[in-house]
Amino acid sequence: MADLKLADVAKAYGAVEVLRNINLEIAAGELIVFVGPSGCGKSTLLRMIAGLEQITGGTLEIGGQVMNDVPPAQRGIAMVFQSYALYPHMTVRDNMSFSLQLAGKSKEEINRAVDEAARKLQLTDYLDRLPKALSGGQRQRVAIGRAIVRDPKVYLFDEPLSNLDAALRVATRIEIAQLKASMPGSTMIYVTHDQVEAMTLADRIVVLAGGGIAQVGAPLELYERPANTFVAQFIGSPAMNLFEAEISATGPETRLRLETGTEIAAAVPSPESLAGAKVQFGIRPEDLVIAENGAMPFIEFRTDIVEKLGDTTVLYSRDPSQNDGQMIAKQPGIVNAEPGSVLQMTASPQKIHVFHKGTSLLYL
Ligand code: ADP
Ligand code: MG
Repeated sequence: MADLKLADVAKAYGAVEVLRNINLEIAAGELIVFVGPSGCGKSTLLRMIAGLEQITGGTLEIGGQVMNDVPPAQRGIAMVFQSYALYPHMTVRDNMSFSLQLAGKSKEEINRAVDEAARKLQLTDYLDRLPKALSGGQRQRVAIGRAIVRDPKVYLFDEPLSNLDAALRVATRIEIAQLKASMPGSTMIYVTHDQVEAMTLADRIVVLAGGGIAQVGAPLELYERPANTFVAQFIGSPAMNLFEAEISATGPETRLRLETGTEIAAAVPSPESLAGAKVQFGIRPEDLVIAENGAMPFIEFRTDIVEKLGDTTVLYSRDPSQNDGQMIAKQPGIVNAEPGSVLQMTASPQKIHVFHKGTSLLYL
């Protein structure tokens, strides 16, 4: 069990800076998820923590000890990769025992650790099989078992579910959540590009973008109060709609005017100095609702595509004058709409996210 501290951590390959100003404290026992688009540096950051990649700036501490120059084997970490990297000619038991044998542990000690890990991962019945006789999900559980038997201070996972098909991914994700719950003292860092994995597994999510941290917070904090338009559109599916507007009235509540002249209220306070300021505001597809009898619509939603999924209906409007040419509304249940339907839509003032235009930062 250990905490981690990253202070101004940076990574450059020659003149190319991939990561900079990474400041992050991870508490012992926390499950932190690094999420972000492909190529944003998630694996690089994880590999620097593991010691597989040199840190070119700043310091990394694990359990209060500076680790920048400590070799991987002495960092008290275990890493699980996307490719399971099991030894094909060894049984599950031997795959899980191997690192302990190398470390010179006794046979009893090894068997105890392997049996305990196998029980946690529901692999007890498969200990004598070879990897080729296992499903993808079981193979990944063996890879996780190999990490568990070493009783590391910190677990690092790099997209461990990416090679599994959709159903197995969901099942294995739930198993990882249960595994974490059974090991409350273990610190875990989990890398994924899948925001559902991030939302469901994390105590806190670190959103990486453009070589830095876009936001750190609990999953619902990121959903409810994204700090910038990047996080606003990265967390939540389909992505948040963004509109260009101008502040037409300031005060404890802010009024926003679209180019069409329509106004909408946002339950965020704004100082007088922002009167007339150009802003962007966001409404999540699930918060764009059909205006019931009498409620003031804020937008005429011209439906182009209707997806009836049973539990929800997703409506797409290809309106070049709005939201970069596409607006999305997600309604519960089955909505009686067809391509060509025009719906009067509105949103509650509590569900409007206002961002500074230019910096894209949220107004507080
Ligand atoms: P992610 O895991 O988020 O998809 P990576 O951490 O693998 O991203 O990569 C981050 C960036 O670093 C990418 O732009 C990649 O091209 C670059 N990169 C990774 N390894 C090297 C390397 N050995 N030399 C130069 N650039 C690299
Ligand atoms: Mg990666």
